[in-house]
Amino acid sequence: MFYGFTEEDLAYIDVAKQFAEKRLAPLVGDPEPSEEKARAINKELAEMGFVGMCLPEEYGGMGATRVQYCGVLEALSTVNDDFNTGITKVNMDGNAFVRYASPELRDKYLPRLIAGEIVPATALTEPNVGSDASGIETTATMGTDGNWHINGRKMFCSQFCGRADIFLLVAQTDKSLGHKGIAAFIVERDFPGFQYNIVDDIISEGPYMHATELVLDDLIVPPENLLGRVGQGFMAVSSALDIGRLSIAANCVGVCQRAVNETVKYVQQRKQFGREIGQFQLVQGRLADMITETEAARSLLYRAASTVDQSGGDRMECSYAKFFCSEVAQRVTNNAIQLHGGYGLSKEYPVAHLWESMRQTTIVDGTSDIQRLMIGRSATGFNALRR
Ligand SMILES: Cc1cc2nc3c(=O)[nH]c(=O)nc-3n(C[C@H](O)[C@H](O)[C@H](O)COP(=O)(O)OP(=O)(O)OC[C@H]3O[C@@H](n4cnc5c(N)ncnc54)[C@H](O)[C@@H]3O)c2cc1C
Repeated sequence: MFYGFTEEDLAYIDVAKQFAEKRLAPLVGDPEPSEEKARAINKELAEMGFVGMCLPEEYGGMGATRVQYCGVLEALSTVNDDFNTGITKVNMDGNAFVRYASPELRDKYLPRLIAGEIVPATALTEPNVGSDASGIETTATMGTDGNWHINGRKMFCSQFCGRADIFLLVAQTDKSLGHKGIAAFIVERDFPGFQYNIVDDIISEGPYMHATELVLDDLIVPPENLLGRVGQGFMAVSSALDIGRLSIAANCVGVCQRAVNETVKYVQQRKQFGREIGQFQLVQGRLADMITETEAARSLLYRAASTVDQSGGDRMECSYAKFFCSEVAQRVTNNAIQLHGGYGLSKEYPVAHLWESMRQTTIVDGTSDIQRLMIGRSATGFNALRR
């Protein structure tokens, strides 16, 4: 494996691999998942420095490169990707904190997020607002009491067992201003007016992750919890999504690798027509597709990560990686099931779970078609996403 990894990069990857084998492998398909277990694992990941990996050292982060970050996520996902959201949400929302939050807000939340003491979620999506985030319907108005009053509903806010402690929440302060009226807030779970329902019927979230629906009926947020200025909410969320898209790509590559590993093992053992099925040319052909697509996805992932490291940010590279790696993950995990035959759909083998966990990746943080339109807009200068 060579992507220009330095000795330091490889050392991080090695630590992640060892942790994954020791602590995460026994939890694959855990029949008794709990918030306590998830938080305990998250704390261990934090103690190794992985939870706030890309965030500044002054807040307890490691200031790691995107290449190192993706290397660690890939290594964990190759064994078990159920706990990666704890890491990705902190780096996503943390990126928005670093770019837009006041020093007081950063001091208040970042060290605890990075130490794994609290976990965040992103609250962007609404019942009527998904791909078109500029149409946010949740409102934020400044009250005569000097606090923000937020009303609306948010959907799909994912975190361990649906129980985040704080939310990066986006709301509209003045509809007539369009995206210039959008503001981001840091909302704590026990702020007055905060209500939530855990939604545990979504396939693809794995045993430890659930979405939460937020019901905000005059939620009261103190003025200091505005992240940046009114009008910067959209940019704050976009800065979180940039790292979110790389994170998804890294998860996809790790899971694809696991699907390849499991399938190689299976076709070397399973016999039909008196021979191991791995001896059949069509089986080898399908496996070759899986391996080649996984390597292509990996190359695009690390190209994107190193471009971001060198340039300080490159939204299109993150889009290419998210789009391609998530689409590849559908095909690779689907092929893994196919080559396991009927057993591919049995919980006795891991490949059905791999496919299930990958199914969401072409939808979250911007669907594949939205990535296509962003890439097309960048290439042509024509904005097909304009309202
Ligand atoms: C497991 C899971 C976890 C999630 N976690 C979070 C979270 O933590 N926080 C959060 O805020 N959200 C979260 N989401 C929400 C997710 O980001 C949205 O589902 C996603 O952005 C798509 O929005 P939507 O579901 O409303 O689909 P829609 O926007 O309604 O899209 C439906 C279809 O229409 C297509 N479409 C829409 N507009 C166009 C267009 N202009 N041109 C062509 N096609 C178009 C889309 O590509 C898609 O195929 C999560 C979702 C899932 C499933």
